[in-house]
Amino acid sequence: MNNNWLRNTIRSFEPYVVPEIKEHIVINANESPYNIFDFPQVKADFLERLAKTPSYHYPDPFAEELRAALAKYVGCQPQEVLVSNGGDEIISLIMNTFLNPGDTLLTHTPTFDIYGIDAEVLGAQVVTVSDLDGYRRDRDGLLTKVKEVQPKVTVLCNPNNPTGELLPLDYVESLVQAADNIVVIDEAYLEFAGAPSIITKLSQYDNLIVIRTLSKAFGLAGCRVGYGVAQKELIDALGLTKLVYNLNILSQNAALAAMDYADDILAHNIPPTLAARQYFMDALKDVPGLTVYPSSTNFVLVRVPDGPAMVKALHDADICVRSYKAANLKNCLRITITTDEVVRKVVAVMTEEA
Ligand code: PMP
Repeated sequence: MNNNWLRNTIRSFEPYVVPEIKEHIVINANESPYNIFDFPQVKADFLERLAKTPSYHYPDPFAEELRAALAKYVGCQPQEVLVSNGGDEIISLIMNTFLNPGDTLLTHTPTFDIYGIDAEVLGAQVVTVSDLDGYRRDRDGLLTKVKEVQPKVTVLCNPNNPTGELLPLDYVESLVQAADNIVVIDEAYLEFAGAPSIITKLSQYDNLIVIRTLSKAFGLAGCRVGYGVAQKELIDALGLTKLVYNLNILSQNAALAAMDYADDILAHNIPPTLAARQYFMDALKDVPGLTVYPSSTNFVLVRVPDGPAMVKALHDADICVRSYKAANLKNCLRITITTDEVVRKVVAVMTEEA
């Protein structure tokens, strides 16, 4: 075989190395601390559904029952939802569907890096607008760039990962209006923000795709259930290249059981997370040397005087957090807010080390 069998655009990619996590308190991936199978009624519902789903049949390709349940949850029509193997799959479908090599993806930085990676794999060009001060996004800059470049795809995470910043709905809408092409609004963390979704405006915008997930507020990260919401024409387009059986029966049934008890699960999971987030921010905001950024999510970004030293101090206390190599996130740690007990432990270490 000749030696150029790898596609040009992925030749420089490093293999994915599974991070070796030695700590027992793992708060590096914005996971929920709450297990849906600990809710007796959700577990019973899941098992009942599973008992009626034979393993020898392939799953429903468009997960019609789940699609209808998710549509009801977000307030749209079932044909305006595409269910996916985590939000990650929708992101990759968006890139595959709309980006040709050489096209432009526009987003802001810092943000969730999968967008840029997927676009690069396809040989697209990634244009970013930098934040203003390590936290606040350059709203005018992004709007101006959209109008100037008219990229094939524009991405805005709202709230943003890793900063936690939420932008108001009227700004989000102005971005969608300014673009001639696709605008992706990633609302993976919206349930923690207590803010309205741009899905409320779906009928007005044929270029809008909203990304949601059950990984965060519903605690289903292990089941890999995400979904895209858009007008039917875009949903149908995204369905063209998805794997036919993208979501297995275990995940479909778990997600259906979660949707049957959506209100109970959210009422159980969200308030303690928000209270722990408030405690965390109040406890650290006046500690000299620390910058604690406001958050509308289940994580908080903190800039510390010496990132590696703080990571080590947390590691020594058996805690694993997310740190960054990128220059614009120098000495920043992203800390997932889980239980009160964990948050108190993190606060104690960070106060001592700062
Ligand atoms: N969007 C954002 C902003 C995220 O942070 C994540 C997960 N970290 C996702 C989408 C994808 O989540 P999942 O694939 O677990 O649904």
